[in-house]
Amino acid sequence: MQAKPEHAKTDTPQPATIAQVAVPRPLHGVYDYKIPHNTAGPSIGARVRVPFGRAMTIGICTGLAQESAHKKLKDIVEVIDTQTMVPDDLMHLAHWMTGYYHHPLGEVLATLLPAAARKGAVAQIAPGDWWCVARDEFTNPRAPAQQALFDYLKTHGPCRGKDLVAQNFKRSTLRNLARAGAVETWQSDNPIKTPTPDNVPTPAQENAINAIVASLGQFAVHLLDGVTGSGKTEVYLQAMAPVLAQGQQVLVLVPEIALTPQTVRRFEERYGRVGVLHSNLSDHERLQTWLKAKSGTLPVVIGTRSAIFTPFNNLGLIVVDEEHDSSYKQQDGLRYSARDLAAKRAQHLNLPVILGSATPSLESIYNVNRNRYRHLLLPHRAGGARMPSYHLVDMRGESQTDGLSVPLQHIIRQHLRAAGQVLLFINRRGYAPTLLCKACGWQAQCSECDAKMTYHTTPSALRCHHCGLRVPVPQTCGQCGQPSLMPVGMGTQRTEAGLARLFPDVPIYRIDRDSTRSNKQLVQQFDKINTGATALMVGTQMLAKGHHFPNVTLVAILNADAGFCSPDFRAPERTAQLITQVAGRAGRAERPGEVWIQSYQPENPVLTRLIESGYAGFAELELKQRIQAGLPPAKPMALIRAEATNPSAATTLLNEFKRQLAVFTELELLGPVPAPLARVANRSRHQLMLVAPSRPKLHQGLAHLSPPKQARQIRWSIDVDPYDSL
Ligand code: ADP
Ligand code: ZN
Ligand code: ZN
Repeated sequence: MQAKPEHAKTDTPQPATIAQVAVPRPLHGVYDYKIPHNTAGPSIGARVRVPFGRAMTIGICTGLAQESAHKKLKDIVEVIDTQTMVPDDLMHLAHWMTGYYHHPLGEVLATLLPAAARKGAVAQIAPGDWWCVARDEFTNPRAPAQQALFDYLKTHGPCRGKDLVAQNFKRSTLRNLARAGAVETWQSDNPIKTPTPDNVPTPAQENAINAIVASLGQFAVHLLDGVTGSGKTEVYLQAMAPVLAQGQQVLVLVPEIALTPQTVRRFEERYGRVGVLHSNLSDHERLQTWLKAKSGTLPVVIGTRSAIFTPFNNLGLIVVDEEHDSSYKQQDGLRYSARDLAAKRAQHLNLPVILGSATPSLESIYNVNRNRYRHLLLPHRAGGARMPSYHLVDMRGESQTDGLSVPLQHIIRQHLRAAGQVLLFINRRGYAPTLLCKACGWQAQCSECDAKMTYHTTPSALRCHHCGLRVPVPQTCGQCGQPSLMPVGMGTQRTEAGLARLFPDVPIYRIDRDSTRSNKQLVQQFDKINTGATALMVGTQMLAKGHHFPNVTLVAILNADAGFCSPDFRAPERTAQLITQVAGRAGRAERPGEVWIQSYQPENPVLTRLIESGYAGFAELELKQRIQAGLPPAKPMALIRAEATNPSAATTLLNEFKRQLAVFTELELLGPVPAPLARVANRSRHQLMLVAPSRPKLHQGLAHLSPPKQARQIRWSIDVDPYDSL
């Protein structure tokens, strides 16, 4: 290596010669690489291509330095981005997640990036294809082509570039008009619209909007606790207005886009330029939305869980709709909670977050009780709709057909006669959860899992809902060989068949993962239902996710008990949320609604409390019990899971972790025990649960874990704040 020439020693800072790079591998720490001479080094947050092991990989530059403690460094092969790909605030979030979720930085950064960016796609915004006028007037007699195009756009509103070309306008004319500032371009499937007028807010809405607007520019978490149909979405829309007027951006998280097309539509109708991030986007489209949000040209982004990682040029507000929803928690890989990250990001950026729900999570209620979150209440439905009334059907001794009790059949008939729509909820897809031999009691089991096969009729098959295995339906018993197999229990397909026999003239819509394979199908189905004609709907929890069915007058919950039987400590909370949300689909417009609940345990305290004092009453009691039992949210929890084809390998690893944690005497360690579903896809699953007196104690313990060498052969993970303790 050549000696540096003397004149290089000036006051100007020396260019960095070393880049620290986080690579997408399950390894902690960052790696040093040399920046080759005569090449511009990466900026922090830029993607770089580097040799790693025997392969090339794409990592993120996380730091720059003049020297390294290591010798024999490899060179960076390519600096992919001239600008940063991961802006400061996301880099900050990534570092925070590394500490909180005990997950390697390189993998955190890889999770955060859209797939196309991870694979090295160029970070360039593709030219737009929607065009509209940027001002009211434009006169240029010397450029008749420009004048004609401007006038066309002014009368027709936003148009696609290709449609303008089809009208014999030229791309070059568009570009000239854009240069003159007379038109603007926009790439989106949604044209820019003139805002629809606001509803006049109710006093409760107004109070909430004022509180949120007063907190703009500061960190605050608002729990918008509003009964179903109380106008939470209207509050989001109006609270956003001053943010957008100041040129700032808004991020809206929703549980599942396909299930809430109306919500998305309302944002589009009010604010036009909405970037929607959903699972059906191509990698290219997703990256484009990402880049546009980053550059600041996209004022509103609506998306599901991973949209929490969208970069913004100037973010002003975050909304998390249906904050209690389980879909905000990633259940594999990096097990983050988008709701919790929303609060973290807002804190770092000094801006408010709205967490909206009719059934807030006990975590959020706990935070309200400790004055960490502000409580904004919308106790009544907007627009004069009334809350539905609740009724119980005691199923003990009641005769039934395909899961429908005689009283329920009567009520359904009444509502159909009055031209209402009826929604039936059963949280099980398929025809029946078990296929049983009447002669010997044998049940069809999955060969790969400790689970029963679900019997499906359309198409006919036995399917395992855990590993996806499908086999033909056997004609004879697998044990005694008798042709005496019968389906036991209820699923959506069976309810559908039963309804078709009882109400042959009424159209039936089944809404579950099997019936609605594409988002488009689902939206078409919702549109048909919302024409308002008499109809029966049967579906799973997909029906509970915020969809608005204005003509539903009866909601029936066919088997309320199923959810309460689970050993998971969150089961009562989840079931109460589900029942309340499904019930909330009833009577959302002028016609009052009724909710009928079938139960074999009508005295179940959770159920009676819910019916008598609503979700708030239930939540108060349930939270008290959690606090008494020393469970989350009162005490933080983590779950270490391990699975292997050899069960003893998994337990040996967990026992080693338990031994390492034993020095932290304040940690409660439970296990290792087999997971309630102990074998899935032929792998044996075990878990070790940690409960700590405080967050720092939990993190101290988890940070101390050092996996032994043999851990590499085993799939294991740390889940901080697990949603499913099963
Ligand atoms: P939520 O999000 O709480 O379920 P929505 O925002 O969907 O409630 O509101 C329910 C219905 O009430 C919608 O049809 C909405 O347009 C209407 N609505 C909301 N706020 C008002 C208001 N202030 N005046 C009249 N109608 C309203
Ligand atoms: Zn048998
Ligand atoms: Zn299986």
